[in-house]
Amino acid sequence: MKPVYMDNNATTRVAPEVLEAMLPYFHEFYGNPSSMHSFGGQVMKQVRKAREQVAALLGASPEEIIFTSCGTESDNTAIHSALSRHPDKKHIVTSRVEHPAIRAVCAHLATQGYRVTELPVDAEGRLDLEQYKRALTPDTAIISLMWANNETGVIFPIEKAAEMARERNILFHTDAVQAVGKIPIDLAKTPIDMLSLSGHKLHAPKGIGVLYLRKGTKFSPFMLGGHQERGRRGGTEATPSIIALGVAAELAQKNMEIENTFVKGLRDRLENTILSTIPNTKVNGERVNRLPNTTNISFEFVEGEGILLMMDEYAICASSGSACTSGSLQPSHVLRAMGIPFTMAHGSIRFSLSVYNNEEEIDFVTERLPPIIETLRGMSPYWKTSARLCGEA
Ligand code: PLP
Repeated sequence: MKPVYMDNNATTRVAPEVLEAMLPYFHEFYGNPSSMHSFGGQVMKQVRKAREQVAALLGASPEEIIFTSCGTESDNTAIHSALSRHPDKKHIVTSRVEHPAIRAVCAHLATQGYRVTELPVDAEGRLDLEQYKRALTPDTAIISLMWANNETGVIFPIEKAAEMARERNILFHTDAVQAVGKIPIDLAKTPIDMLSLSGHKLHAPKGIGVLYLRKGTKFSPFMLGGHQERGRRGGTEATPSIIALGVAAELAQKNMEIENTFVKGLRDRLENTILSTIPNTKVNGERVNRLPNTTNISFEFVEGEGILLMMDEYAICASSGSACTSGSLQPSHVLRAMGIPFTMAHGSIRFSLSVYNNEEEIDFVTERLPPIIETLRGMSPYWKTSARLCGEA
């Protein structure tokens, strides 16, 4: 059965043109880009082109692009570099809804003598800029805030937050893994010092990422080794994946308009139909400042895992909580930070779309979901009690 794939915040399909561009670099042009011979040199030329393509998507210069292995490595590198270059500063500012790629690093650092401020969010997943301002101190070595949340799609006011950091001379990093390719980003106009992105969220393969490092920002490499990436990240370049990411970046730029019209339209159709046909449902997170492809919906009194399993029978792919926390029955840290009540948080499903979805798929899902929820609620003691109290059963 062909999957009805609505889990694009977990990972995306490699675009056909991206796959086609990378394949020759496995078996035909397999030289090492650092080699002296021209066989390797021609690969270096393509790596250079990919660097330009990624830079263009971000409004950056090619020298500001460091290829890494993934978003997680980029996030780790950013924090590590800031702390190494500012050994006198012991404070980190972040938020309660960051991805584990940042949270786990901060949790570890908190055991190593660093003070970590995790800013709260409100019930809609929004950050309070006044509270943020108050958290910044002369001891703050780095601020790391995500541009868009992977579970709810809620977008933080990153431009404003970066400006406030710059006014105080504090390094600012953003985890833009979910934002890049979905919303316009122009680093020429935004005083962000470091930014992380991940190829597999924008139709490039898994295992390739980027750390953007603003020119002039002091840096300390995380991965020590060869002189690759101007000595900023050791390790032979993953040339097929780098070339793929370049093409994916160009494609993302081309598709940005479609993301914000067609994909957003599909998302809204899915969301509105679910809300109007299934009782006791609610969208988690602010609906205005949100990624165009994401909706996180709570189905009260139902287990998210139950919904996923029943949707799986129809090959419908979605997610409950973030991909990295699925498998755990705890409501996600993001929904808990938003104070979503237990009976709602447990039944939350994230649908995340892409340009490869279509209206037929949306209708397929919205037709199958009501009976799935009805069946699961029929088995839920909470639902029966609540329905009885409301005089429905
Ligand atoms: N940051 C965010 C917001 C993410 O959603 C993810 C992946 O889900 C990551 C970081 C980690 O990226 P990667 O899987 O490339 O390590």
